Amino acid sequence: MGLERLRAQEIETNSTEKEVIDENEERIAKMSSRDCRCDEPTRELQSNEDEVESSAEEAYAAWMVKHPSALIAFDRMMSIAKEKMVVVFLDYDGTLSPIVDDPDRAFMSDSMRSAVNKVAQYFPTCIISGRRRDKVYEFVKLTNVYYVGSHGMDIMAPLKPVDEIDSTLHEQAIKEKGNEGVLFQPAEEYLPMIEEVYSELKEKTKEIQGVLIENNKFCISVHFRRVDEEDWSLLENQVMDTMKNYPALLITRGRKVIEIRPSIKWDKGRALEYLLETLGFGNNDKTLPLYIGDDRTDEDAFKILQRRGQGYPIIVSSVPKDTEASYSLRDPSEVMSFLLHLFRWKKDSS
Ligand SMILES: [Mg+2]
Repeated sequence: MGLERLRAQEIETNSTEKEVIDENEERIAKMSSRDCRCDEPTRELQSNEDEVESSAEEAYAAWMVKHPSALIAFDRMMSIAKEKMVVVFLDYDGTLSPIVDDPDRAFMSDSMRSAVNKVAQYFPTCIISGRRRDKVYEFVKLTNVYYVGSHGMDIMAPLKPVDEIDSTLHEQAIKEKGNEGVLFQPAEEYLPMIEEVYSELKEKTKEIQGVLIENNKFCISVHFRRVDEEDWSLLENQVMDTMKNYPALLITRGRKVIEIRPSIKWDKGRALEYLLETLGFGNNDKTLPLYIGDDRTDEDAFKILQRRGQGYPIIVSSVPKDTEASYSLRDPSEVMSFLLHLFRWKKDSS
């Protein structure tokens, strides 16, 4: 690729970043002014549609009182981070990439990739997903982040704990290990069983249009986003019927997806705890973990941070939701803004 084209691409990425940040800041400003208007007694009459939208926004604004925007609260959040090492944990689907009908096409944008790359230059960064670890790497394609797949059951981490506040150590750990460090796979013995269930489910549900069964190595995802609503109960019955023979596996539900995984006491929260300890980030005085995620499975990680009284759990949601998270971001574009804020905060202070 020529130098000019590279420069042009960088200018384009930077201007996209600026557009996203401007757009998010404009929206936040609008939201604040709408909050003010709600208190005015002489509010104009609105059409039904406007009222529905307005009440949804009001409900969201009320929810945000308990879970403030991490963009608005950024300076306050980071005021305790100056002497600490910030460690960034990110979910993938719905956090770094939009939720799409075909999970094989949940690509992240180039500008999001650039934002994650920038953050990873300054802070240890780990992507924790329900998907196969190698699949997440295929989407993200960055060599300076750690990858954890299968809801925390497939962990790649460097050999030595990184025990000091020195980001160069983190860089070294990754380079030396070529991004394939020590693996921790607490559910290894379940691999043959998962393979068996995967084949059985594929066979059993092959008549149902639109079903997509994803083999995530240590767990299976049955996606029904593209299945006709009238076939949902048929699919559910087929899955439950198959699973009767596998009491060692657990069934959970996510966004238009049924997840099947080993019934061991291991989840994204345990994986987060394992990583904090293994990487030497367990000390509350020295490190500040941030965990950003949108799904029910991320709640396990939010709970761990709350229990440890360490760091900030941040939920990605555009609707009010029951959550253990302390802060919120509305959608992946706000996640990107937050990551860029974080990068600039560090860049300006170093
Ligand atoms: Mg997600």
